[in-house]
Amino acid sequence: EEIVDVLIVGAGPIGIACGIEAQKNKLSHLILEKGCLVNSLYNYPVNMTFFSSSERLEIGDTPFVTTNPKPKRAEALEYYRRIDSKFDLNTHLFEEVLSIEKKGSIFTIQSNKAVYLAKHVIIATGFYDVPMLLNIPGENLPKVSHYYQDPHYYTNQHVIVVGASNSSIDAALETFRKGAKVTLVIRGPEVSHRVKYWVRPDIENRIACGEVAVKYNSYLTEITENEAKISTPEGVVTIKNDFVLALTGYQPNFTFLKKVGINIPDESPRIPEHNLETMETNVEGMYLAGVVCGGLNTHLWFIENSRVHAEIIVHDILAKSI
Ligand code: FAD
Repeated sequence: EEIVDVLIVGAGPIGIACGIEAQKNKLSHLILEKGCLVNSLYNYPVNMTFFSSSERLEIGDTPFVTTNPKPKRAEALEYYRRIDSKFDLNTHLFEEVLSIEKKGSIFTIQSNKAVYLAKHVIIATGFYDVPMLLNIPGENLPKVSHYYQDPHYYTNQHVIVVGASNSSIDAALETFRKGAKVTLVIRGPEVSHRVKYWVRPDIENRIACGEVAVKYNSYLTEITENEAKISTPEGVVTIKNDFVLALTGYQPNFTFLKKVGINIPDESPRIPEHNLETMETNVEGMYLAGVVCGGLNTHLWFIENSRVHAEIIVHDILAKSI
């Protein structure tokens, strides 16, 4: 049976960068992706604009050309698709990795479709699959979502957006502009300073003139079919509600990481154990790449500063096999 040099879990920007780097160094590779190509980006809001300028999203020394100041989701999908085809990467889509076991120096990787053998494994699974939950009654109602896609859906509806960061502020502004009656529920006293600098004045002005309602220092306590309860500094208020967008962040799939043998501390930020100089985990021959490396600290890594993981890892693999 064939033993692949490097098996990569996840075809996000960084998993793809790892495939390119392996190929460049004449190592055989296989990328397994549970969804479509760059699945996380595909699931972003349809109109999303990146906070990074396009050259900071580049991989494989290939220019990402756009005439916009910052690229949009659709352009990034096209860019990474062209990268995947330009480098003729060995990418299997809609194939989820279920388990990884090491026997001797060889990994056995079980997907939902097949079993593979590999000398090295790179985990580049990101953090967009597991949302942070509110853990309140009513969170399981179909009108509650932890992902937001298209504003049109919310026209003329009473929408609560939970969260103070980029995802929630974008969703509040877009749905407001499609005629939704929006209430932002923010745990702290203000809109996050991480909000894109060109978006911030927009939300501040919409709030100041009352077009978007906001409850600061507040949190949802219960969601029902037609209403929602919000705990505010003035007491609990009940408001009419059709949809809740709970955009309070995401986290790496710690269950999966533990299952494949990586040590995860219990204390926040739960950074999966790895050597910062080589990106190798506590499992010899198994590496971490991309935003998954930050654990709960999902702002630590992004494309610009984690694309180098590909070179670091492949360099380490080559150095150790001499
Ligand atoms: P991801 O792109 O998340 O890729 C991980 C892949 O692994 C996914 O495709 C997933 O389906 C797959 N996967 C997971 N588990 C399995 C499994 N068991 N088997 C097979 N496949 C699996 N970063 C920036 O640099 N600039 C930005 O402007 C920016 N904007 C963002 C906007 C939003 C709304 C969000 C949520 C994030 C943004 N980020 C941005 C962060 C961004 O998500 C990451 O920088 C980028 O996607 C990281 O790439 P990655 O390859 O590490 O992870």
